[in-house]
Amino acid sequence: MNILGTRIDNVGLDDCLIFIFEALAKGHEIRIVTANPELIYRAQKDNELLEILDSADMVLPDGIGVVWAARQLGGVLKERVTGIDLTYEILKEGDRCRWRIFMLGAKPGIAEKAAIEQSQKYPGIIFDSHHGYFTQEEEPFVLEKIRRFNPDILLTGLGAPRQEVWNYRNKGIAKVRIGVGGTIDVLSGQVRRAPRFFQENNLEWFYRLLKEPSRISRQSILPLYVLKVLQTKYFN
Ligand code: UDP
Repeated sequence: MNILGTRIDNVGLDDCLIFIFEALAKGHEIRIVTANPELIYRAQKDNELLEILDSADMVLPDGIGVVWAARQLGGVLKERVTGIDLTYEILKEGDRCRWRIFMLGAKPGIAEKAAIEQSQKYPGIIFDSHHGYFTQEEEPFVLEKIRRFNPDILLTGLGAPRQEVWNYRNKGIAKVRIGVGGTIDVLSGQVRRAPRFFQENNLEWFYRLLKEPSRISRQSILPLYVLKVLQTKYFN
């Protein structure tokens, strides 16, 4: 499905897990992007970002805004697949299959805490982590740490689009690289995920806005995104 120039794959959570399993079994290296409306909107005006999305092995519809746009543009997307839902499934499978998972991102101390918390719940997984506020000078050290750990899965939570750029530029450090946004904060227990009501009514974005009103400047892109989708629907 093409949404404002970005390719979105019509896949659900299960398809994505199968894709990951296959890649690990066959020894293929893959990069997965969770594309939300903000990223799709930005990609229209940013050729590097568009190339990053286009060249990803899988682009997931992250959020109801993407599923809605698909419907407006005459297509259907199976379901929304968020970074956090995908991560929870990866943790369950990782526990069973003894995967090595590296968490990169969030403020200092948070990724370490997430690794400790999650290794209690999923003792089969081997975790390592690093925070996401490293400088350019520190980057080679971070890359070396990841390389030495040799992860099956690298969960990159540096915020969009930095995490997408980072995963795109750093090939060869993990078998599967996925941008997961604020997931590491939730895994650490420091930040609570939106209550079920908000999740079930597609209002997770609104809950995050209530908790962090400063997100309003980023979310102000959303009305522009809606207008652009409707413009494409009626005038293109
Ligand atoms: N983050 C980071 N390094 C940065 C900027 C952000 O590690 O330079 C982390 C931030 O602490 C948070 C995560 O990226 O854990 C996601 O941030 P945000 O909520 O802005 O992203 P979203 O989930 O909306 O993509």
